[in-house]
Amino acid sequence: MSGAHIAVVGASLAGLRTAEQLRAAGHTGPVTVLGDERHQPYNRPPLSKELLSAPDRPAPEELHAKVAFRRRASVADVDFRLGLPVVEADLGRGRLTLEDGSAVTFDGLVAATGLRPRRLGLPGPAAGRYALRTLDDCVALRGVLGAGRRVVVVGAGFIGCEVAATALRLGCRVTVVEPTGAPMNRVLGDVLARAVQRHHESAGIAFVLGRSLAGFTGDARVSGVELDDGTRLDADVVVEAVGCVPNTEWLAGNAGLDLSDGVRCDNRMLADGSDRLVAAGDVARFPNPLFDDVPRRVEHWSIPADTARRAAATLTALLAGDAPD
Ligand SMILES: Cc1cc2nc3c(=O)[nH]c(=O)nc-3n(C[C@H](O)[C@H](O)[C@H](O)COP(=O)(O)OP(=O)(O)OC[C@H]3O[C@@H](n4cnc5c(N)ncnc54)[C@H](O)[C@@H]3O)c2cc1C
Repeated sequence: MSGAHIAVVGASLAGLRTAEQLRAAGHTGPVTVLGDERHQPYNRPPLSKELLSAPDRPAPEELHAKVAFRRRASVADVDFRLGLPVVEADLGRGRLTLEDGSAVTFDGLVAATGLRPRRLGLPGPAAGRYALRTLDDCVALRGVLGAGRRVVVVGAGFIGCEVAATALRLGCRVTVVEPTGAPMNRVLGDVLARAVQRHHESAGIAFVLGRSLAGFTGDARVSGVELDDGTRLDADVVVEAVGCVPNTEWLAGNAGLDLSDGVRCDNRMLADGSDRLVAAGDVARFPNPLFDDVPRRVEHWSIPADTARRAAATLTALLAGDAPD
């Protein structure tokens, strides 16, 4: 099917790289990339680092210009439709429904919808609570960080520690609350995690370890957090950095898919239970033959490009009537 239409849902690193790899794999038919963010694809790692510490609180467009991916010539004819989420996919009929009720039909489909931050479902006001995944999140959080602000970061993983260090550099007074052991100990192990903790503490960050949040204090706006032992910490800003959940709701309702913790695929990135859906990037749960045969999601910057190559080759072969490798 050389003129087959491929729809890619998710216009970030994995979506962009899959569009490029579809062309590299020889797919000549139309490709549409649909994304709910209004920005052209951009790089996320600087959001918790240099962009969050940008002086003068720049406008979103200025920040976007610093991190936007270059559009390669191979995808000049790819149609990017931005600013509207896909709310439903009907794999049987080959039809996507967007939030405004409009429809896009497809022959092949790519899930590249990544993750969103997990939020704490605890009592208390919503205003003053932040999470960090998107450029707009970064702009909002940057806007409230500044000298003397009291910031509580909940979660001492990579994002939590990076936000804490950046907020400190901006002159904030920072406390990190983490229910398990030392920062990032799940991935670093205890010895290295303690060294990371000492490094942050010597810079001026306070840690409260082994305690969870019981709720947020304040009326219209957060004034602090209450911990599970009753301790209260005052805060002008609370950052929730407690992990992410995969964006798969738009695929629900398609029998045969396994959407528990991402889109489960084989190692060709073909979704279990489908012959026209592949997945790429953070949302894909796949077995990596370098390790073992256990399907896992991997939240790492290099995964979108690697999985995009494999997903594009698989889908291109399937649509051409060939058996994918
Ligand atoms: C602040 C931050 C710092 C990071 N730092 C590092 C680092 O230092 N090193 C590292 O290796 N990795 C880092 N990462 C992780 C890395 O950025 C991700 O692994 C990478 O962005 C994953 O790309 P993706 O395209 O799979 O998913 P995402 O980047 O999450 O993109 C998915 C896109 O799909 C959109 N979408 C979701 N649902 C829908 C829908 N229904 N319809 C339409 N669009 C939808 C989302 O809005 C998003 O634009 C960081 C991530 C963040 C957030």
